[in-house]
Amino acid sequence: MNAIILLGPPGAGKGTLAESLRDETDFIHVSTGDMLRAAIKAGSPIGPGAKVFMEKGELVPDPVILGIIKERIAQAAGDARFMFDGFPRTLEQAKLFDQLLTEIGGTLLKVVNMSVPDDMLIRRLSGRRICKACGAVYHMVNIPPKTEGICDNDGAELYQRPDDNEETVRNRLSVYKNQTAPLISYYREQDLILDVDASMTPGSTYAFTLEALNG
Ligand code: AMP
Repeated sequence: MNAIILLGPPGAGKGTLAESLRDETDFIHVSTGDMLRAAIKAGSPIGPGAKVFMEKGELVPDPVILGIIKERIAQAAGDARFMFDGFPRTLEQAKLFDQLLTEIGGTLLKVVNMSVPDDMLIRRLSGRRICKACGAVYHMVNIPPKTEGICDNDGAELYQRPDDNEETVRNRLSVYKNQTAPLISYYREQDLILDVDASMTPGSTYAFTLEALNG
């Protein structure tokens, strides 16, 4: 198993970049946030506990996250290539992931470090809208759908994530700075970091990242 990690604060565009990379490469997109939202919707046993943390913008405990990651990896072929979006988010998760890679003989190829100024993150998250059916990500100003409130792909309704309100967004940004940003130096020491200026348009961010990953 080979993997890349998309690392960046909420609103950096990890999901949007992952969607583009998934269309052009053989990487399997794994978003722990999407998996947790799906678990809540499906009424899975981990759902109610996870929901309490997510609504506040806090992190779901590491053992729950590692559980869903292990389960997802086990479902794929041994030579699958994964693109993790929103995982790992703590130093403990990163260390447990290293252990897991050693156990299964996997390799972490690169960690894409997406940076964006805070004021831009807040604007991006408050305007973000998501398709109820396919999960495609839009922005009311930056990436508007052809018809307001409707997904271009399938005509389904767009919604705003409950944790994209301003108060929760501010908490998510501070959680990122305190608990997730230390991963940048952790992976820089392993020479795995690819720095990307993710304040560019989605198309430019994608083109830059794809070229850097291939190069
Ligand atoms: P996201 O969709 O990546 O913005 O994640 C939404 C929420 O899910 C986060 O604010 C956390 O509450 C939770 N979450 C997602 N991924 C993780 C993770 N790797 N570790 C802990 N909590 C997570």
